[in-house]
Amino acid sequence: MAVFNFSPELVELSEKAMEMCRPRFAELDRMADFNGQRVLKAFIDNKISDIHMKGTNGYGYGDDGRDKLDAVFAQILGAEDALVRHNFVNGTHAITTALFGLLRPGDLMLSVTGEPYDTIQGVISGERIGSLKDFGVKFDKVDLLPDGTPDYEGIKARAGSCKMAYIQRSRGYSLRPSLTIEVIGKICESVRSVNPDCIIMTDNCYGELVEEVEPTAVGSDIIVGSLIKNLGGGIAETGGYIAGRKDLVELCAYRLTTPGAGKEVGASLNQLRGMYLGIFHAPEAVCAALKTSVFAAALFQLMGYEAFPKYDEKRTDIIAALKLGGEKQLIAFCEGIQSGSPVDSFATPEPWDMPGYDSQVIMAAGAFTMGASIELSADAPLREPYAVWLQGGLTFPTGKAGIMLAAQSMLDKGLAKI
Ligand SMILES: *Cc1c(COP(=O)(O)O)cnc(C)c1O
Repeated sequence: MAVFNFSPELVELSEKAMEMCRPRFAELDRMADFNGQRVLKAFIDNKISDIHMKGTNGYGYGDDGRDKLDAVFAQILGAEDALVRHNFVNGTHAITTALFGLLRPGDLMLSVTGEPYDTIQGVISGERIGSLKDFGVKFDKVDLLPDGTPDYEGIKARAGSCKMAYIQRSRGYSLRPSLTIEVIGKICESVRSVNPDCIIMTDNCYGELVEEVEPTAVGSDIIVGSLIKNLGGGIAETGGYIAGRKDLVELCAYRLTTPGAGKEVGASLNQLRGMYLGIFHAPEAVCAALKTSVFAAALFQLMGYEAFPKYDEKRTDIIAALKLGGEKQLIAFCEGIQSGSPVDSFATPEPWDMPGYDSQVIMAAGAFTMGASIELSADAPLREPYAVWLQGGLTFPTGKAGIMLAAQSMLDKGLAKI
């Protein structure tokens, strides 16, 4: 029974890949089981009811649904408090709100995991655009070691005088390993050993619900992420979250709205139901995305390519990077992913000059929510190391089909062999 015209060789190889994936899938199912129960428990413990989905307008005073959603997220994320709002326009905005909420002129922000994600760099050091630098916040970084692991000695040598130590969990557009909760715990210990009082903040994008606990459990004071990634479950239409120590979350809320009013204001409009349903679905959506990522690594490893992480390596985020070897391969792969999207399958992605990049970038995304990367999507800068970064897959059958269409697209163009 075939739906798509995959070549017999690809079908056979994909079956072999599925065999290889089975033990990993069993582990992922166990994680989804555990995290699914944790999410359900948070709904039950907070007595969520029909009325909490309704939303408010105007000033949004006394918005019980909004406040309960914060409590549900806080419980799931192991945090004292959370600020979950559709008003965060993206993950960068949520991170920016936290940075400006917590740092003051003269403070030192120390990134302990090297250069932060591309979009955060302008927030830190942009010229005359109201960046942290414009406001007199100093920045420094401790690079990762050449093998991509944290430089614990370097961190201990430099963290003594910082107000904030900043950790980025996910690899971003690099091939360095993403940081597991265990590694984040060790970083926090190193920071605390020389600076017990500094704020440890973690950019948690793409990492939520991949492990049993979040960075809050191992010493991070504040964690931040986007709702069009993991925790929106593919259902939240927009938004982001900040979670962690109550006093710090309050300062972030003062920055998002106004000093004094903070979390007490802000109409939730018609966004609450999608955010509740999204977090409820998130453990399954994250599991499907992880299976898609593991399957992609297995299939492309069988085809002779290098995968980061490998199919059987421990994962701490939903990203997979595949080194495909050249421009044409990257383009063919992205064309295949696009052709397997539920939305805009008929579009052909083209490389373009994306601001902030020194090479062209090609992106495949055909999602229900614009730009959502919990849905199957892929992007590749057309330059060394000629790798594509892919993530998402709301259901495993559709994620798997998308990966196979990407492989078939490369095979059809004579750019890969089995
Ligand atoms: C996605 C992401 C962000 C935020 O990106 P937005 O596109 O603004 O949502 C920040 N850091 C990392 C590591 C990310 O993956």
